[in-house]
Amino acid sequence: MFDDTLKAVFLSGFVVGSVIRGLYTWRNRPSHRPGDRKAALDTLLLMLASVGLVVAPLFYVLTPWLDFADYHLPIWAGWTGAAVLAAALWLLWRSHADLGRNWSPSLQIREGHSLVTRGVYRHVRHPMYAAHGLWAIAQVLLLQNWIAGPALLAVFLPLYLVRAPREERMMLGHFGEDYRLYMSRTGRLIPKFWR
Ligand code: SAH
Repeated sequence: MFDDTLKAVFLSGFVVGSVIRGLYTWRNRPSHRPGDRKAALDTLLLMLASVGLVVAPLFYVLTPWLDFADYHLPIWAGWTGAAVLAAALWLLWRSHADLGRNWSPSLQIREGHSLVTRGVYRHVRHPMYAAHGLWAIAQVLLLQNWIAGPALLAVFLPLYLVRAPREERMMLGHFGEDYRLYMSRTGRLIPKFWR
């Protein structure tokens, strides 16, 4: 029964997260579609992410077909998952709000792109990816199933390792010294509290 509560918590978070993402995708819809090969690689990586983020969890929550691979964690782990999911949603919302018109799902410099260094970007360069990392941890704790639980973690880690350095090269190429300075005072996912 507790499994069902955790699935319901996850599903509620999933709906809220989808509304946040959908709202900003609509607000920032591009006037034209970039068609170069870099964008194609990016699209491929995003499709891979959606398997761990959308397909596997929904398949698990809405059908009984993956139930054979369930695992069971203590109750406190489930509630920790709910708290981590809430933190992920907050960070997802704040990072979209702070990036504003500069956000795009694929790696690109938009027309009139400005470097955002305030809000949640004041301390970390990749709060949106951090939100997805927190989401991936919450998924392991809430969806206690060997397929759906770690699905996002499995795709998020390689995606992040490929994407963050490419993104930073792109930002350095466009913003030069401003981005280099910004890099020196921020962490990638964790604030440089020790500075
Ligand atoms: N890596 C960031 C943003 C992800 S969205 C995060 O995790 O929060 C990807 C787009 O955001 C990229 O195409 C890039 O153009 C833009 N972007 C990333 N950091 C930015 C910043 N500090 N200011 C403005 N745009 C940024």
